Amino acid sequence: MAATGTVARWRREALVFAIVGGMELVTILNHCHRQRGFVYQHARFGPDKKTIEVDVRPRQGAAAVCSGCHRPAPGYDHLPERRFEFIPFWGFLVFFLYRMRRVHCRNCGIVVEQVPGSDGKHQSTQAHRLFLARWARKLSWKETAESFHTSWDKVCDAVEYVVRWGLEHRTLESIRAIGVDEIQYAKGHKYLTLVYQIDAGMTRLLWVGKERTIQSFQGFFTVLGDPLAAQIQFVCSDMGKPYLDVVRQKCSQALHILDRFHVVAKMNKALDEVRAAESRRMAQEGHEPLLKKSRWCVLKRKQNLTAQQKFRLRDLLRYNLQTVRAYLLKEDFQQFWEYNSPTWAGMFLDFWCYQTMHSRIEPMKKIARTLRAHRALLLNYFKARKEFSSGVVEGLNNKAKVTMRRSYGFRTFHILELALYHSLAKLPAPELTHEFF
Ligand SMILES: [Zn+2]
Repeated sequence: MAATGTVARWRREALVFAIVGGMELVTILNHCHRQRGFVYQHARFGPDKKTIEVDVRPRQGAAAVCSGCHRPAPGYDHLPERRFEFIPFWGFLVFFLYRMRRVHCRNCGIVVEQVPGSDGKHQSTQAHRLFLARWARKLSWKETAESFHTSWDKVCDAVEYVVRWGLEHRTLESIRAIGVDEIQYAKGHKYLTLVYQIDAGMTRLLWVGKERTIQSFQGFFTVLGDPLAAQIQFVCSDMGKPYLDVVRQKCSQALHILDRFHVVAKMNKALDEVRAAESRRMAQEGHEPLLKKSRWCVLKRKQNLTAQQKFRLRDLLRYNLQTVRAYLLKEDFQQFWEYNSPTWAGMFLDFWCYQTMHSRIEPMKKIARTLRAHRALLLNYFKARKEFSSGVVEGLNNKAKVTMRRSYGFRTFHILELALYHSLAKLPAPELTHEFF
């Protein structure tokens, strides 16, 4: 085994020597990552033979550029040599070694020079950060760090850089429709407010707010600004009160649509309550456990039931149970979404609520009261000609949940915010002159 390992390593080194000897690494770098004002001088293995080090020098006669005002300035002195990480190559980490100059600038005083594709603070080149960030969208951050022999923190730094750049350079113009929703991100009622663009041609995450308060949703409108907010025509949301107030205040011109997905979810929750309570009551009173294993039979859409569940449901429907009556009310309500005319949909809604209020099933009556209170907003769904259904919001929210699940490192708000923007905001990214990956 040891011998095979040695041979493999020897082969790998031989390959690099072949390149350094035949086609110089420096030549390749000049071809794919040319830096104005600088030259690659010499490439060699680092002392551990696991890294490749490339010396970088200022091009002869090229003046240093002030990092403050971006103008050429006379040199002052040199700082100690620093390593800037570049894209790894055949399993070797690659570093540029460079002694940054300080310049004596007429405007800025004695400051460090500007280095292309890197800044004074990062140990990593722009190309390397873009490389890690792009992989961090396909893999989890942990997997990215492991795959490219780097640390989770460096992957996080890379994502932060790309997200910051993207947020500074994105354009928020011509947003017609937005959807707002919340997701729980940690135990103990920690929620995020997410705002999405849900136009037919463009769906993306626009805003991540901490908590689900009026202030967090208003934060979005602060970033957007009043002129752009005034152009929004449709807002799709849950029935949560903070949303309703902010929408009324900030986009009074927009048609506010209540989310179909949330209405269905609320109804399922009520039905589940009815079923659980009735099941408990029957057990206490010593009845046959009719409702055992009935949960998914009544919660799932009919077309999604397994053969066995269908059979179980048919059996269940023979009994005069509260659960069965609640189930029938819920199924009946599906028809609401099939109307085209707001008038007819409104009549159906009124009739359904009337029926439900006479059902003597408290959780369902509560739903009916909520729907009645939001009648106008519910009917907006039809006025918008069903153009903006919440399906889009639901889909984006599911992606957000996947992003959250993909790493255990996303526990703090800031990290989670970065991860969400990175995977869902369709942010622009700085471009490199060469496609490295
Ligand atoms: Zn300057």
